[in-house]
Amino acid sequence: MLRLTCPCCGAAADETELAPGGEAHLLRQGPGSSDDAFEAYLFQRKNPYGVHFERWRHAHGCGKWFHAARDTRTLEVFGTYSAQVSAPPQDILDRIAEKHPGFSSEGGQ
Ligand SMILES: [Zn+2]
Repeated sequence: MLRLTCPCCGAAADETELAPGGEAHLLRQGPGSSDDAFEAYLFQRKNPYGVHFERWRHAHGCGKWFHAARDTRTLEVFGTYSAQVSAPPQDILDRIAEKHPGFSSEGGQ
């Protein structure tokens, strides 16, 4: 079972207490963007077999959104962090790099 620590309230929550929100760090597209960019924003998502950055909501807790970095193969959680940032914190990227040398958050692994 997936277990994440909510960075907002500090509670360790089981997957049943959380609501998934899909891929984290999407670049929003709006008026003025091309049709292709808007379509990609709406429909195209990474689906890696490995390190993934995701949005979660502590639905049966504080109700706030946060981000998590985890490995979809092993369910290993590298860390959780605020949803108010546009990129993963360096300490989490360092933790991922220890386990997955050569990992790039741009292209996955
Ligand atoms: Zn919480």
